[in-house]
Amino acid sequence: MKPRPENRPPSDEKARKAVKPVVCYPVDTLPRPDMALYSAARKRMNRIEEVIVPPREAKTFRVKAGNFFRILSMEGPQVGDLNLWCGTDLFEHFYSGKTRALHGTHLGTGDRMWSSFPHLRPMATITHDTLDWYGFDGFGGGVHDVIGTRCDPYTGRLLSGQDYDHCCHSNLIRALAQETGLSFDRAEPHVHDVLNVFMCTGFTRDTHQYFMKASPVRPGDFLEFFAEIDLLGALSACPGGDCGSEHSSDTAPCFPLKIEIFETDPETLEGWSSPRPSAYSGRHGK
Ligand SMILES: [Zn+2]
Repeated sequence: MKPRPENRPPSDEKARKAVKPVVCYPVDTLPRPDMALYSAARKRMNRIEEVIVPPREAKTFRVKAGNFFRILSMEGPQVGDLNLWCGTDLFEHFYSGKTRALHGTHLGTGDRMWSSFPHLRPMATITHDTLDWYGFDGFGGGVHDVIGTRCDPYTGRLLSGQDYDHCCHSNLIRALAQETGLSFDRAEPHVHDVLNVFMCTGFTRDTHQYFMKASPVRPGDFLEFFAEIDLLGALSACPGGDCGSEHSSDTAPCFPLKIEIFETDPETLEGWSSPRPSAYSGRHGK
């Protein structure tokens, strides 16, 4: 609970509060994804690989630019924490904060996962979401958020005094270390804020606290992405399961997630090219 205000409101309180908000980033000038092209390409794609992510574990996967990948629910409601890196450079990774500033708190079809500075380019575009019917519920909750960061053992320790080793943060470290051969110490700084796939979250109306509720995802649901650049991904099957009660424990029912990778027919991608890094000069006032 926040303390009660110590200061009396000014006489023009109403007028100050009545000022209309403006959207921070009007996205009218944002290059729009060509959804018709993706739609044609996904009709002729072929599944080439699948990866199963066991409960309370993470797995990595690679997707070539121009191919698609899906994250699928199987067996039961399960939330996944997704990290993405450029396939050839771990220092270019998904930038959750800027993606949130551009697209809002929750992602859906047509939204993009943007990469970190100095690159700031689309890494992946969401091309299909079987949960797109959900929108926002009566609590203000939606799915696939870019608000939360990932469950981690440090916050767990801070709040409960207990150590727990299968948080998404640790799962992602183990998976990245295994993929790259890096030690845990060297892999950890590359793990970043996630896209919370299938997670249902929002802010409470009264205190504006981050909340979660049981995910509406069911087996067969999927979120599909087009890889705009060569990608290395890591997906953790969150120890919170459907995140309806808690995470950072072994008590919630947890289910595997599946990643499917699809190859496209190059003919269907005519007119598309992998986005270049930001064209900003890099002078920073020098
Ligand atoms: Zn988690």
